Amino acid sequence: MSVTTRINPLSYLTEQLDDLKAKGTYFRLRVLEDEQAPVCTFDGRKVINLASNNYLGLTTHPRLREAALEATRKYGVGSGAVRTIAGTMKIHMELEEKIARFKNVEACVVFQSGFAANAGTVSAVLGKDDFIISDQLNHASIIDGARLSKAKILVFRHKDIGHAEEQLASVKHQPGRKLLISDGVFSMDGDIGPLPQLCDLAERYGAIMMVDDAHASGVLGRNGRGTIDHFNVHGRVDIQVGTLSKAVGALGGYVCGSRDLIDFLYHRARPFLFSTSHPPSVAATCIAAFEVLENEPERIEKLWENTRFWKKELGLLGFDIGGRTTPASETPITPIIIGDSKLTMDFSRELFQECVLGTGITFPTVPEGKARIRTIMTATHKKAELDQALEVLKKVGKRMGILA
Ligand SMILES: *Cc1c(COP(=O)(O)O)cnc(C)c1O
Repeated sequence: MSVTTRINPLSYLTEQLDDLKAKGTYFRLRVLEDEQAPVCTFDGRKVINLASNNYLGLTTHPRLREAALEATRKYGVGSGAVRTIAGTMKIHMELEEKIARFKNVEACVVFQSGFAANAGTVSAVLGKDDFIISDQLNHASIIDGARLSKAKILVFRHKDIGHAEEQLASVKHQPGRKLLISDGVFSMDGDIGPLPQLCDLAERYGAIMMVDDAHASGVLGRNGRGTIDHFNVHGRVDIQVGTLSKAVGALGGYVCGSRDLIDFLYHRARPFLFSTSHPPSVAATCIAAFEVLENEPERIEKLWENTRFWKKELGLLGFDIGGRTTPASETPITPIIIGDSKLTMDFSRELFQECVLGTGITFPTVPEGKARIRTIMTATHKKAELDQALEVLKKVGKRMGILA
């Protein structure tokens, strides 16, 4: 009997990782050792955190924390099943009713994540004879949903209404359904989708209108109701997606729309049918978060005040914060455009050495040549923390030749 050495069938992955290392875009996960907060400890280093989506500081809000603990004591730690079998708890329904009222729509369904909400919804409402007309910079979960649906994907240039119309016109006489879809806030550039014009187009061409408001939930509109409220296009967007994982501070995604849309998703959205629902603590946390949105609007005001300060100061330092080679940000997401991937990752590492966490984002998350440090402002950053972060950005930026 001979002992054969087994050849590792996954060795090609090692080769691809070596490739990333050679290009300078390989990364290790940074590990958070305490709470998600404006100043926190990653890999043993206390840093000013410019990278989280914790817009309103709700990840550590006392009322949310208490709600999670209380729900755990009352209802245990898990839901025990998918929603359609035995895993719909009263608290899940309460959350959905709360969101529907908040958004002023007939009904709402919550998914395990925003990713699941988008991918599950797009793939459920469209089929292979249909068309999805999608902004070039839409989120990956929309693209995956479109692929799963087998619908034909027509991409329009970023926020280019003329091009979106061309795409719609090109399939006007085809029998399939058309879904026009845009992010409300684009996650890598922080610009806002042109909702009123897109709604006009959807109406003119009889298309379904869908908006992914992940980065607008809790950020834009009255009390953080999102871009539909920001633009006052209530009733013109058939499918509104939001997330519970960013400003809301917990985890999950939701779809808002007509009662029939939501009923249909109960029957056909695969993450809803085939993946277990949230633990009761998550639902309770989110209910408390919507109460905070309603009762503490000063958090959103502070978020925007910090955002204005941050953008102004970064611009004064001379960084390219969008608007020259990429869209100009209009929200708390402010990219520092570097361009080169390796320089971006090196910049991010040097910043970390100086106690600032600014994550480098490179291809394929953003186009080649548009690598950046994406900064996100929150309501809970203090002025002194921002001043210190600006000092570090200036010092490291000059040392590395990013700033003149
Ligand atoms: C973050 C994000 C999602 C995914 O939300 P999760 O709740 O984190 O899964 C979807 N769409 C956009 C535009 C996002 O930025």
